[in-house]
Formats: sequence, structure tokens, C-alpha cells
Amino acid sequence: MPKEKLLFAASEVYPFAKSGGLADVAHSLPRALNSIYDIHVVMPLYRFIERECFGIVSLGVFFDIEMGGHLYPVELYGCCYEGVEYRFIYTSLLCDRDFIYGPPESGYADNALRFGLFNHAMLALLKRERYLLAHLNDWQSALLPLLIQEEGTLATKTVFTIHNLAYQGVFERSVLQEIGIPEKYFTLHALEFYGKVNFMKAGIAYADAVTTVSPTYAKEILTVEYGCGLQDFLAEHKEKLFGILNGIDSEHFSPSKDTLLFVPYSDMRGKIENKKAYLETVGLQGLHTPLFIFIGRFNWQKGLELFIESLEWIASQRCNIAILGEGEIKYHKALEQIADKYANIHLEFGYDEAWSHRMYAAADFFLMPSLFEPCGLAQMIAMNYGQMPIVHEVGGLADTVFDHRSFNENSTRGYGITFKTASSDALQHAVSEAFELYSNMERYNRIVQHNMHCDFSWHESARAYLSLYTKIIEEGNHG
Ligand code: ADP
Repeated sequence: MPKEKLLFAASEVYPFAKSGGLADVAHSLPRALNSIYDIHVVMPLYRFIERECFGIVSLGVFFDIEMGGHLYPVELYGCCYEGVEYRFIYTSLLCDRDFIYGPPESGYADNALRFGLFNHAMLALLKRERYLLAHLNDWQSALLPLLIQEEGTLATKTVFTIHNLAYQGVFERSVLQEIGIPEKYFTLHALEFYGKVNFMKAGIAYADAVTTVSPTYAKEILTVEYGCGLQDFLAEHKEKLFGILNGIDSEHFSPSKDTLLFVPYSDMRGKIENKKAYLETVGLQGLHTPLFIFIGRFNWQKGLELFIESLEWIASQRCNIAILGEGEIKYHKALEQIADKYANIHLEFGYDEAWSHRMYAAADFFLMPSLFEPCGLAQMIAMNYGQMPIVHEVGGLADTVFDHRSFNENSTRGYGITFKTASSDALQHAVSEAFELYSNMERYNRIVQHNMHCDFSWHESARAYLSLYTKIIEEGNHG
């Protein structure tokens, strides 16, 4: 029997376009589900995607979308990558840009229209081919459950996943007409949010199930502290809200198979070779002093304030620090000022997948002082590459990193250094613990070798998604 078709939608998918963890998840979760369903991953065909390199070709399907009184021509492209089918939506307004959402400092002014169009184009796909279920991710694809309801004849079920509640897609009220959504949806039970239009609310209100990316974050978002203004709205829909932990792609992030590394490795001897090569390349010294790294978006969420406040203190200890990332200019400047003063800090701005892998392989400790963290992938990658993460105990960090003081060789958990309060004191205290641990090499090695063998793959979580899909499909059949 042919497999049933599922649409999996995201605004970014690795390796085609990536700004953060969503792209990794949209690449690896469909791979994990593909043996059960015929998954079609759908995303915009941004101008910067290298079509030839991935064998992306036109499918010869052209249609017009009518949205807010304008006609937008759409062309459908496709390819098969690593055994998964991809569908790319090309329409000039959405795709002919240099960035996915806009330059690092701000989003494009017409993002509501761009991603409104993405949702309308997906609705057109559902009308052309039968899809049993559509799995939507973040605000950029959150309108689809509403459009399906408004359309009235489609039987496609929907799952909406919140990867980060801090980004909700909030726009002026006037966009409602421009994106072709009837005024009747401008109510507190639907899209209205403090006088504006909130895309994410459409996903929460109209999807058959809502998930977020860790069990702890699923609880946190119901509180004022982490709910970003949607805590009460989420509480109204609590019975269909589930927390399913993200996994990492164990093929792509495996030090023994990673072709991006100086040397692939499966033990500490190989890891030291990578550290040596990395330090030499960037001009840092001290193979036997701890190497701390930070890789990520430079913004408030990632704990940049704490990190910057603590950086001089960390740099004045016997260690090396390597930083890779990009984001808000004020953080670029602050980091640059400190890095200029200390020879043991290596700072790199930008987004560089290959280079990040070499850093994961070289480092001893991964700094992740996020103020909140829906799931976080970096800490899991760091553990599988033989590091101890230093994390603020929130969201997915609390679900994946357990404190080294409770280390148990027989457990399947990963271990690091955790701190409970988001303060620079707490971070510095955690870093002091790192120095102490590093001076007990025998214990440090035992913990990081344990971390290298922890299973952070999609195995368990893909099963959780599959049973959720089955549940809502069966509810549809009975109801
Ligand atoms: P978020 O999705 O909030 O940005 P995650 O920890 O879930 O954070 O995922 C971040 C992903 O992006 C990881 O794979 C991390 O290695 C990668 N990443 C972040 N910043 C950079 C960068 N500047 N260069 C290369 N990879 C990066």
C-alpha cells in the first residue's frame, strides 16, 4: 500500500536555508518520519538557495494566488534530498531577497505579506494533492490551519509546533486585508493581540494539536514569566498542547562521521588532535588549558548580557575562549571591545556551519547561559562532541543537561554544569566549577566520554510525534 502523504512546512530547512535550530529540526525530523509517511517538506525557494547544487528543478506547476485583491504568480519546484521529497514555493515577493527574514538587525517590512503568501500557496498545494496531515512550524506557517478552516472542504489535519514563543509574527491591523483574512478573525479568541495581528495565534487556535519543543518549555509558556503575553491564550488551548523534545541528526552531528572536522574522532585522543589543529589555526595557545566556546545568535535570549558581563573575568583566568555568532550590533561592539584586550579570546562574526563543527570538536566547555531556551540543540551537539555544557537550567536545557554532581555512569542522561539564577555571578560560579572539574582530568574525561555516547537522536521523539499524528487523524475519523 502506498504511504499516506504528510506536508511538513518551515521557513528554513538545512541545508537550503538556515538561521537557527528550526532549520536543523525541519531537516532531521522529516528524515526520522519518512519510513512511515511519505513526507513532503515545503519551504520558500529563496533566491540564495543553490538550485543546481541540490538538483532543484521546476515541477512545471504554475498557479496564481489571489491575496488581498492582488494576483501573485507561483511556480512549484522540487527535489529529493537524502531520501526526502522537497517542494519549494517560488513567488517573487517571498523569495527574491538576500536574507530569510531580513538583515540581522531587523525583519523586512513586508514579512506579513511574504509569509501570508507562503501560507496561501500551501493551501493551494493541499487543494491540488491529498495530504492526510500538515505539520506547521512557527509563525511563518501558522496561518494555514485558519485558511483550511475558512476553505471548508479540506480534510487535512494540522499540527502546529512552537519553536520559540518570543517570535510570534505580530503586525499592524491593516495587514489583515492585505493577506486576505476576513475581519471576523480580528478578535481576542483569534488573531487580535493588543490591537495588532498575531500570526502565531492562528496556529494555536485552529491547529488540531499544538506542540512545543521540550516538556519543561511546554509548562513554562503557561506562566507570565515565559508566556510572552500568550500565557492565558495558551492556557485556553492547554488540552491540545504537548511538549516533545527535539532531537539532533545523529548522522550530521557525529564526530566519528563528520567530514567537516580536521580529523573525525571517536575518543579523547582524536578530540585532542582537533583541539590542537583548531588552536593553531586561530592562533590560540595552551593545549592543556580549558577551551570555552560560545556559538549562537547574539541576542538577549541567549544570555548575551550575562555572557558579556562575565567575559573579562573568564578571560582573566587560565583558559581560552572562542566565540562565533552574529546578531545585534550592540553585542558585536561589546564583544569586540573585550576581545581586543585579551589575547586568549578568539572572536568571529558570521554564520559558518563548517567552522562551528570544528569548534564543537575542539572545545572542552560550551557556554549557554540562555535566559530562556525552548529546547536548544547546541548543548546536545556539544555533549556528543565530548564537551560539558554550562547552562542556565531552563526549558530544554533543564530537560537535556543534568548537573555533574549527580553523574551516574549507568544513566542515559547527558551531564554538564547547571545554574539556576540568570545572573553573571551564577555564570561565573559555574565557570569556576568548570576549572575545578578540569583539574580532575580523570573525572572530567569520564563525564565527557559518557556524553559522547548519549543518544540525542530523534528516535524517541519521532515516535511521540507519530502517536500524536495517529491520535488526531483517528479523532478526525471518529468525529
Ligand atoms: P536557536 O534555534 O535558538 O538559534 P539552537 O541551539 O536550537 O538555537 O540551534 C542553533 C543551531 O544553529 C545549532 O546547530 C548551532 O550550532 C547553529 N548555529 C548558531 N549560530 C551559528 C553560527 N554563527 N555559525 C554556525 N552555526 C551556528
